[in-house]
Amino acid sequence: MDKPYSIGVDLGGTNLRVAVVARDGRIVEKIKISTCAEVIDHLIGSIERLFSDEINGIGLAIAGVMNVDSRRITSCPNIRLLEDMHIVDIIENKFKVPVFLENDAYAATLGESVAGVGKGFDSFVLLTLGTGIGGGVIYNGSPLKIAAELGHIIVETGGRRCGCGSLGCLEAYTSARAMIEAATEGIKGGRDSAMRGHIEAGADGIQPADIYRYAIEGDAFAMEILKTAGRYLGSGIASFINIFSPQAVILTGGLTGAWDIYLQEAIRWASENAFKELYAKTQIIRSSLGDDAGLIGAACLTFEHK
Ligand SMILES: [Zn+2]
Repeated sequence: MDKPYSIGVDLGGTNLRVAVVARDGRIVEKIKISTCAEVIDHLIGSIERLFSDEINGIGLAIAGVMNVDSRRITSCPNIRLLEDMHIVDIIENKFKVPVFLENDAYAATLGESVAGVGKGFDSFVLLTLGTGIGGGVIYNGSPLKIAAELGHIIVETGGRRCGCGSLGCLEAYTSARAMIEAATEGIKGGRDSAMRGHIEAGADGIQPADIYRYAIEGDAFAMEILKTAGRYLGSGIASFINIFSPQAVILTGGLTGAWDIYLQEAIRWASENAFKELYAKTQIIRSSLGDDAGLIGAACLTFEHK
């Protein structure tokens, strides 16, 4: 089983990405489609288009909770129909190559270690900052096979209800969803802000990119939302530094667009709250692969398993 290429699949709530990836993590050819009701047909069709006898195997990275041993997806809030189907068996039976399944954050961590900025570090923590907060850990050169639900460490005892059901998770304070809720609730509660017109008029509501723009334009409430989210993220990062003593914390996902406010505040807070000697050994940096990390990591699963 030493064919030169793999197919990596990253199936998220917004996009389906499928690519042919070489052993060094280089993307040879890529297809990107919006996630929709026919997503499984698109998934099979995209693999069919890219498949050849040079393909070693297929790796699937999916946002959800999965049982890697039984190769079943137990919870996938974005694409519920995956919970009732044997997607791995379906693809394996059709294409007759080994198929591997992993959580999208784990795959992104692996991808970043093989082909991204993580290549330079033996130990790092990767955090995906988007609608939710995910993560993974590379420790002494290998991905840690642990749950690594880094977005669900508790940062506020008895705090806000998280999507997972618990109270006070990091995700409930730092994710895109948390920022949108903070803006919407604040405006409903009478906060004075230039965001009011946007929130009251917009059918699509307000997005983190809008909040960032209002903050840059001088809106105090928008700035407060980003800085508050940044402080909670910084508390989380300080905890991860204290637990894993990584050489780097690598940040990826849509929210890294607000680096100069949200993430600078997170870095400042982490620097003040992590153990000083551990913080001094840790770089906090942006991912170099961006959206492609999960795809590349998924493909690398097939090379890892041989
Ligand atoms: Zn949670």
